[in-house]
Amino acid sequence: MDSRIERLKELTEKIRLYNEAYYNNADPVVSDREYDLLYEELKELENQYPEHADPDSPTRNPGTAPDGKSKIVIHEYPMLSLENSYSEDDVREFFSRLKKSVPGETIVTVEPKMDGAAVSLTWEGGRMILAATRGDGSRGEDITRNARFITNLPKTIPDKGRLTVRGEVVMPKAVFAELNRRRSEEELPLFANPRNAAAGSLKLLDENEASRRNLSMFIYGVDGISGRKSHDEDLKYCAEQGLPVNPIRYFCSDTDQVFSALAEIEKVRFDLPYDIDGAVIKLNDYALRESLGSTSKFPRWALAFKYPAVQATTKLKDVIFQVGRTGTVTPVAVLEPVRLSGSTVSKASLYNEDEIKRLGVMIGDTVFVEKGGEIIPKVVKVQESLRPADALPVVFPEFCPVCGMKVEKQEGEASYRCVNRLCPAIIKGGIEHFASRNAMDIKGLGEKIVEELFEDSLIKNCADIYALRREDLKDREGWGESSADNLLFSIEESKSRPFERVLFAFGFRHVGSSAAKLLADRFGSMKNLAEASFNDIESVKGIGGETAASVIKALKDPETAEIIRRLEGYGLNMASSAAPASDRLGGKTFLITGTLDKPRKYYEELITSNGGAVAGGVSKKLDYLIVGSEPGSKLEKARKLGISILDRDAFLAMIS
Ligand code: NAD
Repeated sequence: MDSRIERLKELTEKIRLYNEAYYNNADPVVSDREYDLLYEELKELENQYPEHADPDSPTRNPGTAPDGKSKIVIHEYPMLSLENSYSEDDVREFFSRLKKSVPGETIVTVEPKMDGAAVSLTWEGGRMILAATRGDGSRGEDITRNARFITNLPKTIPDKGRLTVRGEVVMPKAVFAELNRRRSEEELPLFANPRNAAAGSLKLLDENEASRRNLSMFIYGVDGISGRKSHDEDLKYCAEQGLPVNPIRYFCSDTDQVFSALAEIEKVRFDLPYDIDGAVIKLNDYALRESLGSTSKFPRWALAFKYPAVQATTKLKDVIFQVGRTGTVTPVAVLEPVRLSGSTVSKASLYNEDEIKRLGVMIGDTVFVEKGGEIIPKVVKVQESLRPADALPVVFPEFCPVCGMKVEKQEGEASYRCVNRLCPAIIKGGIEHFASRNAMDIKGLGEKIVEELFEDSLIKNCADIYALRREDLKDREGWGESSADNLLFSIEESKSRPFERVLFAFGFRHVGSSAAKLLADRFGSMKNLAEASFNDIESVKGIGGETAASVIKALKDPETAEIIRRLEGYGLNMASSAAPASDRLGGKTFLITGTLDKPRKYYEELITSNGGAVAGGVSKKLDYLIVGSEPGSKLEKARKLGISILDRDAFLAMIS
């Protein structure tokens, strides 16, 4: 077979696989730029050899078919993609094509192209009754449950008829940074960018977690025939209904105006609280849109102009290995400094050995670095053609670069880990974590000061922080009385942090801030937690077996027990101020439905303060459903599952 036709077939398969990874798993295996180049190559080959093009080619359909893990939704009107371009010439050509095809003045809107996941929402009787992903354009997945957690959607709208709108679900940059921070605390894999995080969040099965993802949305269109005459009128209508519509919208009637709108949006690109990857140019008038129609993949009346990816090329000078507080050995790329979206970058993340293998990166290579939603840039690609003859392979150290002990790779883990608990990197990292903002928040005790005090043996663990004296500090080089007093004041002040923060500050493996809160709520004190069994801990909703095992292991350790004893002696909170008044509900889970005589929160506090837990929904794991007046569908569901039903008095009797 002609090698070009072979290439066509190879690309068709490759892109299909990339689509699966991107749309169904929210975990792309290549960068968008790389994908777009391969896609263009495939389109080109299909033009040359139409008889060999797969009738179901990815160039002919948007997205990919749902993977069948959720209920399928058939879209009443297809959810198409957009024709994409990075080229200004294509914009000119698109606009002149519109001018030729439509009579009179051509008005287009130019609006941000939000980088998230496309979703269709149907409202009926003023309430949202259905939310679906785009899927392959004709069939998407039902994500109604999780769409209810989108923070900026109204609960009800005034329009009581049927209204189907489309929009982009995004994860704001700040929410994304916080989510990844939480995941790194809990040692879960990080999301590569806000788009993947948004798409993945919509498909979550864990309702509690989905509710914490804080997604936002922008409506960019109305489905079907609305009766209104233009895109702008429809968007205004949506806004009147209280639906979130992006306020950035330019109206243009010639190419100069289009280019200036594209430039205006690009100018604010990095200041927006969410990611955009381009701008969409759309014909405003519906009757004119109708006359142009659509292909099977995109409408002919719109064009997405993509802004260049925020990438730069530079040289990889070296790879160094950093050891974190959990002992994880992380490779970091040392780069020839390069400007990237407004800052100079000289280091980039390489994550782990698998990532280095996947990139095929060598020291001396020219690499592409990219800044996604995250603060730390990453190496995304190697330019192999520029590899110098003296390039060196990246060799993972067998021994910890800090303490020299052998590193280990646990089964199922991608990273090497130093397991020497006396490794200075682990101890210093642990103290830094203890003092950090979300933990004990000891101002002035950052990385540099911890290093300094550790090196001088003034602090060897976190209990030593509270033994620091004024005379230990004030005469140190660069210190003085006021810096010593400021630090001692912050240390003293940190003693008032609540128990959940103290628990988090210990930095037990897999215990991030949310797990610490769940454990503090359930057990109320370090003593109760230390006495709890694996099963007690694992039965807390939101706490997995790994976390339970890690807590048990940490609290059995005599050195940790000694540190806890000392810290308690210094006056740190080793119990919640609202420590369980009793353990009468010990480990049982409750859920409330319907209206009670006092706010739900009141009863929830009674549950937790008596050692019970509040569940996120009805499941087999639920022990009791407390029912007030006008109960919801939870009652029916609980009955079917044979869950014990309590009224208010029966519940109060359990704790009196
Ligand atoms: P797209 O994301 O490029 O454009 C279409 C989408 O834009 C619409 O579905 C809609 O959700 C969104 N959109 C955002 N703002 C909008 C607005 N104001 N008006 C209308 N729509 C708006 O198209 P796509 O088909 O979802 O994805 C194709 C792109 O995705 C490719 O060009 C590639 O960059 C990327 N991709 C990457 C991989 C990979 O492996 N890296 C795989 C598949 C796709």
